[in-house]
Amino acid sequence: MIRRCRIYEGKAKVLYEGPEHGTLIQHFKDDITAFNNEKKDILEGKGVLNNRISEYIFTHLNQIGIPTHFIRRINMREQLIRKLEIIPIEVVVRNVAAGQLAKRLGLNVGETLPRSIVELYYKDDKLRDPMVSIEHITAFCWASLQEVDEITALALRVNDFLTGLFLGIGIRLVDFKLEFGRCHNSDPPALMLADEISPDSCRLLDIETGDCLDKDRFRKDKGLVLESYTDVARRLRLLNEERPIPSAPVLVT
Ligand code: ADP
Ligand code: UDP
Repeated sequence: MIRRCRIYEGKAKVLYEGPEHGTLIQHFKDDITAFNNEKKDILEGKGVLNNRISEYIFTHLNQIGIPTHFIRRINMREQLIRKLEIIPIEVVVRNVAAGQLAKRLGLNVGETLPRSIVELYYKDDKLRDPMVSIEHITAFCWASLQEVDEITALALRVNDFLTGLFLGIGIRLVDFKLEFGRCHNSDPPALMLADEISPDSCRLLDIETGDCLDKDRFRKDKGLVLESYTDVARRLRLLNEERPIPSAPVLVT
């Protein structure tokens, strides 16, 4: 049996050493957590769904020229990724008032924002990921000003892509969280999108009914969490049952 070297275990994923230098294996667990790990559960199959949904999104982002850590999916729960030096900033992009923003600024939940807003948080569970300014980020050398500019531009491109993708399957993209890292294969290191994009890290609403299709169902005890994640995967045509049966090519004679 091949024993793999586990590099890190987080709340929702495990990272193993990859088969080649500079690679990792990202394993998606079934654990679901909220409120900085205060609320936890295990949803059988969630890791499989997030692996597929994130694979789909990262593959398309790579195709449109947004550099990401994603190389390929290996199996139901795992993907091969580039090992990055993670920048300790959580980048949140918002299109609609919800969550912390609605609370902080007294906005009506569901109100469309005047424009997309990018927010930056310091990634530190012990400090509960406090919101930070560009001043904090550059003063403490978490990232350079040039990196912050590049991250913001990439986050807005991801937002444009995701908004259209979800709109096409009847879903309103409210907000989402991204992480970025440096790939040291080149000099200077290249900035790349890291981690995952899935219903764990986005707020997604059905356009017709307003039904929530993301982790807020777990946060707010709404039930049907796995069913909602499955619905997102089904709309993206990622489930076998929804795959069109490929027809044989017709020869023109
Ligand atoms: P958390 O660490 O917040 O509990 P996860 O359980 O999702 O979150 O763990 C995944 C960890 O892997 C995160 O800390 C994330 O920053 C890190 N990560 C994601 N992509 C990469 C990558 N390409 N290289 C190195 N680390 C990564
Ligand atoms: N988010 C995330 N991980 C975090 C914090 C936020 O994936 O550690 C996502 C969250 O799911 C939502 C968006 O980022 O889609 C904005 O979250 P918000 O700041 O409103 O915080 P919340 O209300 O979720 O605590």
